[in-house]
Amino acid sequence: MKLTDIAIFKQACLINGAWITAEESLPVNNPATGEEAGRVPLLSADQVNDAITSASEAWKTWKKVPASTRGDIVRKWYELIVKHTDELATIMTTEQGKPLAEAKGEIAYAASYVKWFAEEAMRIQGEILPAAAANTHIRVSRDPVGVCAAVTPWNFPAAMITRKVAPALAAGCTILVKPASQTPLTALALAELSVQAGVPDGVFQVLTGKASVIGDAFCTNPLVRKLTFTGSTEIGAQLMAQCAGDVKKLSLELGGNAPFIVFEDANIEKAVEGLLKAKFRNAGQTCISPNRVYVHNSVKDAFQTQLSEKVAALKIGNGLEEGTEIGPLIDSKGVDKVEEHVKQAVAAGAKVLTGGERLPFGDNWYAPTVLTGVPRDAQCACEETFGPLVPIISFDTEDEVLGYANDTPFGLAAYFYTDNLHRAQRVADAIESGMVGINTGVISAANAPFGGIKASGIGREGAHVGLEEYLEMKYQCYVIEE
Ligand code: NAP
Repeated sequence: MKLTDIAIFKQACLINGAWITAEESLPVNNPATGEEAGRVPLLSADQVNDAITSASEAWKTWKKVPASTRGDIVRKWYELIVKHTDELATIMTTEQGKPLAEAKGEIAYAASYVKWFAEEAMRIQGEILPAAAANTHIRVSRDPVGVCAAVTPWNFPAAMITRKVAPALAAGCTILVKPASQTPLTALALAELSVQAGVPDGVFQVLTGKASVIGDAFCTNPLVRKLTFTGSTEIGAQLMAQCAGDVKKLSLELGGNAPFIVFEDANIEKAVEGLLKAKFRNAGQTCISPNRVYVHNSVKDAFQTQLSEKVAALKIGNGLEEGTEIGPLIDSKGVDKVEEHVKQAVAAGAKVLTGGERLPFGDNWYAPTVLTGVPRDAQCACEETFGPLVPIISFDTEDEVLGYANDTPFGLAAYFYTDNLHRAQRVADAIESGMVGINTGVISAANAPFGGIKASGIGREGAHVGLEEYLEMKYQCYVIEE
């Protein structure tokens, strides 16, 4: 059976093992064409709370399923995701706009987390600790947190879900996901595959509708023990405050403002290649995308000439067309922000090397752009642009550029290029961010801890620590009579 034949285009959500509709539905539009790609239910608050109750009921059984069986079911889900890569990628490109090759890459990346956590299920370990008193024994177990709720963004419609759902299932939690309203179809397709993999009713559910209605229920229903969120810092902070009422456990993957530094001793060709990969993936709509590019004055001309030639040659178009490298932005608001950042920088003295304008394909298109001579306090260097814009800012000394790099409330990712080993260690240690790419623009992997510091978030996804986020420690003190 093809994924596209089943529930995802029948305006239904997966709740407690059944495909449920609502009185009203919401459109999902293709950002490349503006056409409707599908519809999803606008669930009521009662429907959301019923789903939470069923997740709580399902947890009573799921937490007792042996870890190896949970791992086998998650592994089966992984296999089905890989098997359905082409269909999933097509659904993703249709609702999100990224080129099909990138969408296939995201499915492989999303699946890698599912595989990783299927294996990690068997590595949940407790501890026996020495006690201070005679006849006393200390046992520490690691138990599933309980019902978890996830809210996810539109920029990675599959991976931002599997990074949360796979560890939750492996740990023995149940999880409800509210995908972004712009990209719910990929989430529903993943949910259908989880049913085929044997995930029991109520263990993994996908709910669509109004963000504030679902968000309120997630944050205030006492049956929900943990909220995991990926999205903007603004909404993350709001949900954190809402969860304070009953002190829910939290994981927050929030916005970034990644610096990309090219030192005078860097391999310029490789730095250009690294920046192209890191910046123009998903048309720059990536939380770890370099947002401000600092280039040493002595290599600035060579770097920006090579970069702008390659950027000008990128193939722009509908993501479903063969060879497309850059698709549309998610919506016209996204384009407005890029346009505003470019205009503000140019008014402050920056020069356009390539791009710098909207494209005449519709409301959601902006040309890949390189600006040079950007003042270091320009809006595009201080705020996440979330679009295909590279602002180049020059510098003279290591201390100076480190000051620039760390001068932000955010701390998600950072990148730098140097061939000097001493500098590499020094700068990696000094940069304030959760992740650092040294001579690479590609850092994310299932077996590495993904996450930020400062206003970029709390907690990590992936690696062995990604499972810890779904476990609680319980200390048991035994006094054994002799
Ligand atoms: P967003 O506006 O914060 O939306 C993210 C999710 O939150 C969506 O599902 C959205 O639902 C939901 N939401 C919005 N208002 C809500 C409310 N009042 N209550 C509950 N949920 C609510 O972010 P975005 O524009 O989709 O994503 C871009 C941001 O995400 C960027 O800042 C990016 O850096 C960040 N991001 C971070 C990471 C990371 O791992 N650190 C990864 C990817 C993206 P609707 O779609 O229904 O509005």
